[in-house]
Amino acid sequence: MDFQFSDELKAIKLAVREFIEKEVHPRESIIEEEDRIPEELVESARKLGLFGSSIPEEYGGLGLNMIGKCAIGEEMGRGIAGFAGFLGAHTGIGTSGIVMQGSEYLKQKYLPDMAEGRKIGAFALTEPDAGSDASNLKTTAVKKGDRWILNGTKHFITNGPIADVVTTMAVTDPSRGPRGISAFVVESTFPGYRTGKNERKMGLKGCYTSEIIFEDCEVPEENMLGEENRGFVTALMILAKGRAGLGAGSVGACRRLIELSTKYAKERVQFGKPIAENQAIQWMLADMVTETEAARTLTLQTAWKADKGMNVIRDAAMTKLFASETYCRVADRAVQIHGGMGYMKEMPIERIYRDSRITRLYEGTSEVQRMVIAATLLKDGLQY
Ligand SMILES: Cc1cc2nc3c(=O)[nH]c(=O)nc-3n(C[C@H](O)[C@H](O)[C@H](O)COP(=O)(O)OP(=O)(O)OC[C@H]3O[C@@H](n4cnc5c(N)ncnc54)[C@H](O)[C@@H]3O)c2cc1C
Repeated sequence: MDFQFSDELKAIKLAVREFIEKEVHPRESIIEEEDRIPEELVESARKLGLFGSSIPEEYGGLGLNMIGKCAIGEEMGRGIAGFAGFLGAHTGIGTSGIVMQGSEYLKQKYLPDMAEGRKIGAFALTEPDAGSDASNLKTTAVKKGDRWILNGTKHFITNGPIADVVTTMAVTDPSRGPRGISAFVVESTFPGYRTGKNERKMGLKGCYTSEIIFEDCEVPEENMLGEENRGFVTALMILAKGRAGLGAGSVGACRRLIELSTKYAKERVQFGKPIAENQAIQWMLADMVTETEAARTLTLQTAWKADKGMNVIRDAAMTKLFASETYCRVADRAVQIHGGMGYMKEMPIERIYRDSRITRLYEGTSEVQRMVIAATLLKDGLQY
């Protein structure tokens, strides 16, 4: 296995790192306190091509593979979670369905605008009665002439209030359970589409999460994504890719926590010496960096396998599980190393601690990842 980043990728990664340090970190308090992403950051991200990172070059994107996405994801994760969440939902779950399963018509119609950030993507699977049990959808799609008519409510949808193009799962054959679900590309301008409640959240400030409501929403038949009744498989493929990306974001966030904690431990003096000289602090730092390296290796291995066309359903679940739980442990230790300062809004640690918590919930909870891992283990064994 070779996870080495190419020179071109190293240059892109460096450009994103500089963008995060020079433009994103200085706007941390605006994003956090005003719960919005400043337009100038969106514009800079556009110029860097970040909206099209995973979109093929022929449709105006950077055409990065999964390793490339991880290289960017690490840097974005080192930035601010709300901004990374907004962009990640667009470039990941919001776009990858069209890239993987879209007809040439759908690709031509949507990807160039999405690559430039002129149209924002989202992914709508979850419903009030379909969370972990994601196939228990109530949203229906009924064929009428050359249109599909969608009815139902999606909730907790990242980018919901600002999305222009939403990859949406709906039941097309209620008699067939998960095999009766289809995927659609729905535009927010289609008749019968509206957004509902905008959630107030623990973290991820600047990244909006809302309901999407379909009331006799008219979707042209050419906007079905992939084959009829194969939408749940499409959703699982999208989520597997998304989970590897979340691993990279978690690793990036851990990196920032380690950097901040190391600096603080060297500077903070108690009992007449820097707290970094205490073995208790050193052991926390050692565990933080060891677990982060393990999460990084697992993430890059999954990305490498995905790029080789291998089935990464289990790898992606293990990556998401381990990286997100590592992130939460690392964030907890970072608070501990900072003492009372770790609890104060004066330092980014408090925010990152809150932001870490979502990673064990969305795109499948830790329990769901363990279900996927155990199911594939019991069925296929270890496979090495
Ligand atoms: C901020 C945010 C953004 C999101 N963005 C999106 C998005 O863009 N698109 C989208 O479609 N969805 C999105 N989601 C939804 C997210 O994927 C779901 O919240 C998640 O899958 C969990 O579903 P739930 O909240 O209904 O929890 P539930 O399914 O109700 O789970 C509650 C608890 O029960 C556990 N549990 C459930 N079943 C089992 C079982 N069989 N065995 C053991 N434990 C079990 C769960 O692990 C969890 O601990 C988002 C959620 C949040 C919070």
